Amino acid sequence: MDKLIDPLARQLTTRLKEAGFRPEQIVADKVLRTCYGYDATRQSAAPLLALLPENELQVQTILKLATEKNLKIFPRGAGSGMSGGAIPSADGIILSLTRMRRILEIDEDNMIATVEPGVVTGDLQEEVDKFGLFYPPDPASLAFSTIGGNVTENAGGPRAVKYGVTGNFVMGLEAYLINGEKITCGNKCIKSVSGYDLTSLLVGSEGTLAVITKILLKLLPAPETVKTSLLAFSSMTAAAHAVNAMFKYQINPSTIEFLDHHSINAVRSELPFALPEAADTVLLVELDGPEAQVENQSLKLNKLFKNDTLLLIAAKDESEREQLWLARRKLSPAIANIAPHKINEDIAVPLAAIPKVISNLEELSREINLPIVCFGHAGDGNIHVNVMLDKNDPDQAERGRKGIDEIFAITLEAGGTLSGEHGIGNTKSAYFDKEWDPVTIATMRAVKKAFDPDNRLNPGKIFPV
Ligand SMILES: Cc1cc2nc3c(=O)[nH]c(=O)nc-3n(C[C@H](O)[C@H](O)[C@H](O)COP(=O)(O)OP(=O)(O)OC[C@H]3O[C@@H](n4cnc5c(N)ncnc54)[C@H](O)[C@@H]3O)c2cc1C
Repeated sequence: MDKLIDPLARQLTTRLKEAGFRPEQIVADKVLRTCYGYDATRQSAAPLLALLPENELQVQTILKLATEKNLKIFPRGAGSGMSGGAIPSADGIILSLTRMRRILEIDEDNMIATVEPGVVTGDLQEEVDKFGLFYPPDPASLAFSTIGGNVTENAGGPRAVKYGVTGNFVMGLEAYLINGEKITCGNKCIKSVSGYDLTSLLVGSEGTLAVITKILLKLLPAPETVKTSLLAFSSMTAAAHAVNAMFKYQINPSTIEFLDHHSINAVRSELPFALPEAADTVLLVELDGPEAQVENQSLKLNKLFKNDTLLLIAAKDESEREQLWLARRKLSPAIANIAPHKINEDIAVPLAAIPKVISNLEELSREINLPIVCFGHAGDGNIHVNVMLDKNDPDQAERGRKGIDEIFAITLEAGGTLSGEHGIGNTKSAYFDKEWDPVTIATMRAVKKAFDPDNRLNPGKIFPV
């Protein structure tokens, strides 16, 4: 073993090998350890060790050993988190769940999948599809993020407007407390009100309460068909009214994504269809369900908006559907190309507040003299706000920092929340007490203490330091 390895890490390695861990499950080399200490926020830190358990008994062994040595544990899925949730400290251990990736059961009769936490979201969707079943949560990271990470961040995606977020599909969990003891929450029953709802408590807990080792997920029958339309409006207010009208006239889209005018300009030249110059806001609307119902709703959508839109395209087949989705799919890479160091927040506000919040953000953009690009989920109020800056320019970085303070102030003033899907992690913890009052935070801290009295499980996340 590398001579530079800490004597404590060496001691732990010996103990783990005695307990049956194979060498490749223990990552001690400094360079390799660092590969387990990053996430999508681009923060990075090398932990003392990274450990890759393959079953729940190995998770328990790690937690018991960490308790004996009073060490910190940082659970980790694919490391695609956008709020620093999986970032370790140098004296802590990364517990990577990616090797626990078995789909244990697809119970067709009860329409429930039982999975280990390291299963990749998209893999589960493909697998249940073979049974004519459907797992709706669709974070854009589904090709690589894990179900464990989705549960602990309560991840959402475009389909949340109709189906809800990950938490709406979690029926039960098995998890290990920091001391290595196991808890069981929930079950396969649709109605289940025996005791506190610990399942819901662990959903969105950002790896701070327990290490999740097994997850029961509700499945639905796969929709018969999907139909996609793109609508361009001359103003954000007109688009917001359209969203409202859809709900009012009982059109029930599975997706209502929006792009503001900066977003439209960023992708315009890359699209296989022309977006009108006057387009200020684009909505991408998707309907799914039984064929006749979708056709009916699609006709309704067309009739309702054909006079209010600058452009309305309804995809006729899968290839046209893919073309319309390009407007959304090309967007993140396009704006990341323009400003690689942009700051991205994922605020959520009540639906009716969207136009006002966007207009306040435009005013802020002028004040701080930095473009602010907004896009996201118009159907559920979750707005991805991107402050476009060059962080190597200290003046821009400072204006950007002030901009973020203001973005959160605007959001909270509108009755919104700091995060709709990415979580608080370590990037937003300094703002947490702007959203919640001291008594509420003290109650949350008491919950944390009940699960993790010595603050050894994913410390430094959620709560202001
Ligand atoms: C390109 C891109 C697109 C994205 N799109 C979306 C999107 O549309 N919607 C969305 O919601 N998010 C999105 N994200 C963010 C991210 O993918 C999600 O938050 C995802 O749920 C994280 O999963 P992960 O496996 O990568 O978890 P990680 O980043 O590894 O960990 C996230 C948190 O979960 C904890 N954790 C992980 N596994 C466990 C476990 N088994 N037990 C206890 N704690 C655990 C970690 O400690 C950490 O706090 C996107 C990210 C990227 C890079």
